[in-house]
Amino acid sequence: MVEDNNLETRLAEQDEFEPPAEFVEQANVTDEGIYEEFEENWPGCWEQAADLLDWYDDYDQVLDDSNPPFYEWFTGGKINASYECVDRHLDDRGDEVAIEWVGEPTEEADRSITYEELHREVNEFAAALRDLGVGEDDVVTMHMPMIPAHPIALLACARIGAPHSVVFAGFSANALAERMNAADSEYLITADGYYRRGDALDHLSKSREGLEDVDHDVETVVVDRLGDDGPGHDLHESEHDYDDLVAEHEGATVEPVERDAEDMLFLMYTSGTTGQPKGVKHTTAGYLAWTAWTSQTVLDIKPEDTYFCSADIGWITGHSYIVYGPLALGTTTVMYEGGPDYPERDRFWEIVEDLDVTQFYTAPTAIRSFMKWGSEYPGRHDLSSLRLLGTVGEPINPKPWKWYYKHIGGESCPIVDTWWQTETGGHMITTLPGVSNMKPGSAGPPVPGVDARVVDGDGEEVPSGGAGYLTVDKPWPGMLRTLYKNDERFIEEYWAEYSDTDSDDPDDWVYFPEDGAKIDDEGYITVVGRVDDVVNISGHRLGTMEIESAVVSADGVAEAAVVGADDDIKGEVVHAYVILEDDAGGEDAVRAAIEAAVEDKIGPIARPSKIIFTPELPKTRSGKIMRRLLEEISDGEELGDTSTLRNPEIVADIQAEVRGN
Ligand code: ATP
Ligand code: MG
Repeated sequence: MVEDNNLETRLAEQDEFEPPAEFVEQANVTDEGIYEEFEENWPGCWEQAADLLDWYDDYDQVLDDSNPPFYEWFTGGKINASYECVDRHLDDRGDEVAIEWVGEPTEEADRSITYEELHREVNEFAAALRDLGVGEDDVVTMHMPMIPAHPIALLACARIGAPHSVVFAGFSANALAERMNAADSEYLITADGYYRRGDALDHLSKSREGLEDVDHDVETVVVDRLGDDGPGHDLHESEHDYDDLVAEHEGATVEPVERDAEDMLFLMYTSGTTGQPKGVKHTTAGYLAWTAWTSQTVLDIKPEDTYFCSADIGWITGHSYIVYGPLALGTTTVMYEGGPDYPERDRFWEIVEDLDVTQFYTAPTAIRSFMKWGSEYPGRHDLSSLRLLGTVGEPINPKPWKWYYKHIGGESCPIVDTWWQTETGGHMITTLPGVSNMKPGSAGPPVPGVDARVVDGDGEEVPSGGAGYLTVDKPWPGMLRTLYKNDERFIEEYWAEYSDTDSDDPDDWVYFPEDGAKIDDEGYITVVGRVDDVVNISGHRLGTMEIESAVVSADGVAEAAVVGADDDIKGEVVHAYVILEDDAGGEDAVRAAIEAAVEDKIGPIARPSKIIFTPELPKTRSGKIMRRLLEEISDGEELGDTSTLRNPEIVADIQAEVRGN
């Protein structure tokens, strides 16, 4: 016990961690010279990424920057994403598992889909889609749960050159209709339902409801996931059963369509924490090169690995790092249908142990839940197969980082804290796990070849130790090419802020991700959140993330969200919304600990004027805290759109709590 306490203290104080020696010995990248090498040979360095792919026709040019910001990569090259992710592995790895699928019901057997089997099913379904009328460049929408047919459908579309547009299954009928209309999509792939926390949920009714608001005819494919547990829908005339289609095309093969490097691979509408959804367009070669190369370099994926990313394919993380990146490298990728706490809070760890998972990639929101639940759950399992951990989606505070490092990684796995966006296609800022030291809370340096900077309002770089806005000053292969059918909004949203938009010199164009960040004297970037997540107290601008980090470091706090509430005198004051750990002491003790931690780490100026305890925070369906809503609650304002919330029912409780506070 004494020893354990010492360990806790040491961990709490340690702010830099070396890559574990055992990891470095086997890592894909260990030479720190890669940074300089890429800088000196830019953009030619990206041939390294392109070399991970097999090309029908080689490209003529790495980067065509003649018409910024409409950059083109690997122009002249011909490629097919389905071929890259499936066919080319058949000779060496045909009998190896491509997708290890785990359904939620524990009594259901896992499905291990070999590359051979994946090839067969992708071909059969591609043939079926063609027969339904899907042609090259037709947008196919998917509104699918985490079942094998989902990645199969993605790859089948890629095979015939039909871009996919995936709408997260948790999204509403309305969100589906809006996206299908925006993309003029005449095909939908959905399912009867799926399992969540032991219940068989009806999904088809929701998809059908969405279709009622689609302004053109749609052919629909329905996967029968639930069988007898399902709601027993009789299919309509325009609805086709997935199994029937595949059976009708048994043994069919479809030649992969040779796509131009710059042909669209998919569209993805961003989650819409802000405003109208944006149809982010990704193309074939640059995106695939980017996801394959970062999977190899950052996630350290090797073909013989069993890699588990707990995201949903409905998010960009699932596209890039469950499907395309890992399969392009010919590894085994795990996909899990259900929730982390079903049947118990150790489900992920059970999967890790059963399958000997080597890399585990998840989001801070999940890690905070694991921490709140306590270390006994991972403690029940042998997690020694793990070699690397990753996180993405939000900033992660040092406390959950260290918890993850210790209780999941056993202090022997590097953690990659990967900053990126739907728009960037793949990782942009993160340590390289076999090269750089880790600093909990800071994502790290930009990946080699990426020109990310922290600048002030005028676009001048801030000195080390400074804070400002994140920019990316040079293009990269995985970047979005435009917003679907809206070049103007593309420029306005991402470029106008720091670019000379009249110029055709690429040096005058700067990408603005709309995130705030800090940079230290070693070039480590800490992304503090969206630019609007700042509190202005008596003229001092403080990042909510920094204050949150202090709040969360207090004993008894599992998770916190900090917002600026209007104040007559100071302009704004800090309100902290706090979730207690399951074994926390009384509220008063925790309140005192929070105040002390904030004063100590930031100063009395940031001390919360209100601390509101709540069992949950309002979160989007991708698990991000919706601070905007909390700010409205703090200010007693009418609430804006709550339709993208995962837990809308919590809002009224929090409002009542604030009023009574
Ligand atoms: P929308 O753009 O529709 O408002 P969104 O920005 O939440 O939604 P994503 O593209 O999924 O949609 O998320 C990207 C954002 O997530 C980044 O801009 C950043 O704010 C945050 N983010 C992702 N990874 C990290 C990380 N490792 N550290 C800090 N922030 C991160
Ligand atoms: Mg965004």
